[in-house]
Amino acid sequence: MSQKQLYLDKKIIDQLAFFYINLSRIVRDEVSLCMFYLFYMILGYNDGMKKKKLLIIGAGLSGLYSAVLLQDTYEVSIIEARDRIGGRIMGIDGHDMGPSWVWAHQKNILQLIKTLGLELFSQYTEGLALYDAPDGVQRFTASSTTPSYRIKGGISHLVTALEKRLHRPVKLNEKVVSLTQSDAKIAVKTVAETYEVDKVISTLPPRLASESIEYFPALSAKLHTQLQNIPTWMGYSAKCVIEYPDAFWRKEGLSAFAVSHVGPLGEIHDACTEKKAALFGFVHSYTKYERREDAVIEQLTRLYGPKATKPSAIYLVDWKKEVYTSTFLDATPLREHPSYGFNATYFTGKLIFSGTESAFEEGGYLEGAIASAMYVAKCL
Ligand SMILES: Cc1cc2nc3c(=O)[nH]c(=O)nc-3n(C[C@H](O)[C@H](O)[C@H](O)COP(=O)(O)OP(=O)(O)OC[C@H]3O[C@@H](n4cnc5c(N)ncnc54)[C@H](O)[C@@H]3O)c2cc1C
Repeated sequence: MSQKQLYLDKKIIDQLAFFYINLSRIVRDEVSLCMFYLFYMILGYNDGMKKKKLLIIGAGLSGLYSAVLLQDTYEVSIIEARDRIGGRIMGIDGHDMGPSWVWAHQKNILQLIKTLGLELFSQYTEGLALYDAPDGVQRFTASSTTPSYRIKGGISHLVTALEKRLHRPVKLNEKVVSLTQSDAKIAVKTVAETYEVDKVISTLPPRLASESIEYFPALSAKLHTQLQNIPTWMGYSAKCVIEYPDAFWRKEGLSAFAVSHVGPLGEIHDACTEKKAALFGFVHSYTKYERREDAVIEQLTRLYGPKATKPSAIYLVDWKKEVYTSTFLDATPLREHPSYGFNATYFTGKLIFSGTESAFEEGGYLEGAIASAMYVAKCL
């Protein structure tokens, strides 16, 4: 048991001890003294077991893993604005609509996947790649890149497996609207109720944390600007999954990997699951929303031939429009992966800003989300 768990309410215990000593001088009845001593021990023990209250804002990968790491030390509750867990991890009908890949150098996420009993499989890359140029489609052999891996059954299994390890259920549909520091506590106000806790971890993307929650006292201008300047990774993206009756491109010697400057999909990959054949692509940010799906089929037909005209289903998630992920500033596409990593606390250290963008290594990625949780657990 950690030292934090063994804190005692000194005032009450001291008063009882004082009372007990005086009573023992007056009363000589050993039975009543023993009874009193027992009561005193139970009271002291219960008080010693009392855990401090920790509230985690956000049930994405970072929030869920932080809860798993800290729930033996603190009385942990997780508050989530959406009607589902996972945050940027999102599955629809078995397809990954947010992240899909992990890489071999990402030791922490790989270890977690193993611990949770989940299985990986390699991203399909066999065959020729395509270049979709304004003057026609070209086939080429893609240079070998670092292999990437996907989780069998879909990446959502990562968060559902973590959720099963929680001592208390996640509170869904509860957007946190304000945080107020009062004496030694923090009052966390949601759309439904107010919680009084000892510590808070915010796992929101930093821009969202600075814009969508009110702080009393208000964040300093310096901290507000610091958080505003950290872009939300993939906040500008839109991911489209196109399901087909079979993976016809594989039979034609294509890996499905394609790069396009024509669009609407800028980068395309094989997205087959054990049960379904599919392609996925990132939609160019300038594509008009109303025409997107028709334009996607047109492009896939140009690239992969007539069999691409008849998808069995199309799924699209525009992350720019996800109000619990992206802010107005995030709509601007990023030219490169930002250099992430920051340490920021508020309310005399009782509020910690965490989440993948806070990780100094692999920030923005799933590995960064895990690293941020491990870092906070070490600090608390
Ligand atoms: C399209 C796409 C593709 C990606 N591909 C990859 C990939 O292949 N590999 C990879 O490693 N990474 C990838 N990423 C990044 C990866 O998804 C993130 O690194 C990771 O999911 C971040 O986890 P997190 O817990 O830090 O943040 P989030 O998942 O954003 O969690 C924050 C949580 O806070 C909640 N929330 C927001 N506001 C409030 C509020 N006011 N009150 C309560 N709750 C609130 C949100 O609903 C959310 O659940 C991709 C992301 C996207 C969008």
